[in-house]
Amino acid sequence: MTDPRPLIEIEGLHKAFGDLHVLRGDDLVVREGEVTVLIGPSGSGKSTLLRCINQLEEPTAGRVRIDGVTQGYAEQPLADGRWQRLSPRQIAAQRARIGMVFQRFNLFPHLTALGNVTEAPVQVLGRPRARAEATARELLERVGLADRADHYPSELSGGQQQRVAIARALAMEPELMLFDEPTSALDPELVAEVLAVLKDLAEGGMTMVVVTHEMGFAREVADQVVFMADGRILEHGTPEQVIDHPRSERLKGFLDSVL
Ligand code: ADP
Ligand code: MG
Repeated sequence: MTDPRPLIEIEGLHKAFGDLHVLRGDDLVVREGEVTVLIGPSGSGKSTLLRCINQLEEPTAGRVRIDGVTQGYAEQPLADGRWQRLSPRQIAAQRARIGMVFQRFNLFPHLTALGNVTEAPVQVLGRPRARAEATARELLERVGLADRADHYPSELSGGQQQRVAIARALAMEPELMLFDEPTSALDPELVAEVLAVLKDLAEGGMTMVVVTHEMGFAREVADQVVFMADGRILEHGTPEQVIDHPRSERLKGFLDSVL
């Protein structure tokens, strides 16, 4: 059997904010349909890595390719070998292929759950409202909220709001999904319902990168676990390799703190 094709290819990625050198030149490949769980202490660069994948940050050096196309640049170099920067509009089009869900759900407070999931397909993709609403209802059903379509965010629990945020991202029909600590802002009893949605997505074949400290989820769902510290990837491999057989003292110490 051949490996699935690489969907995200990160090469020599550096990101600095002034003197602060946050990402320090590592490579990473995420294959189609795979789940990558990113772990590491606070400040190690996990969010910055996701933000570079999604072009919310511009790499200082190195590159990110999605489906073979370098993010932020035209597919082919110019005749003189220089690479051509894409326009903001073209970058937005690349970004639209990637769904992102944050720790804080940031739903539109004045729109119902259905309205939140319908808004971008209508405004950004130009879908007819009736069709967007039909899709939104299917997505709300998929995240277990069919009966909450007409509720406003203030009427929903944190776990329900996060599930609406996931449905909202899925409504844009992304090729891959990035999750940045999607359960860290939730009360403990609400974590499982959100992780169940992520697991269902993974089983449906969605390519996902998930920053989380939920080791049970990582063990059960991840194809690869990546441990970052100080802007470097110190260890990566299967959950068994990384979680059960850590090699470095750094990873052992980190696992002790979260397990
Ligand atoms: P993690 O998600 O692993 O906690 P981050 O990627 O958020 O880590 O942050 C890594 C480091 O980069 C931290 O020291 C953080 O303060 C710094 N950082 C992140 N974003 C910015 C920014 N926009 N400007 C300056 N420093 C930043
Ligand atoms: Mg972070």
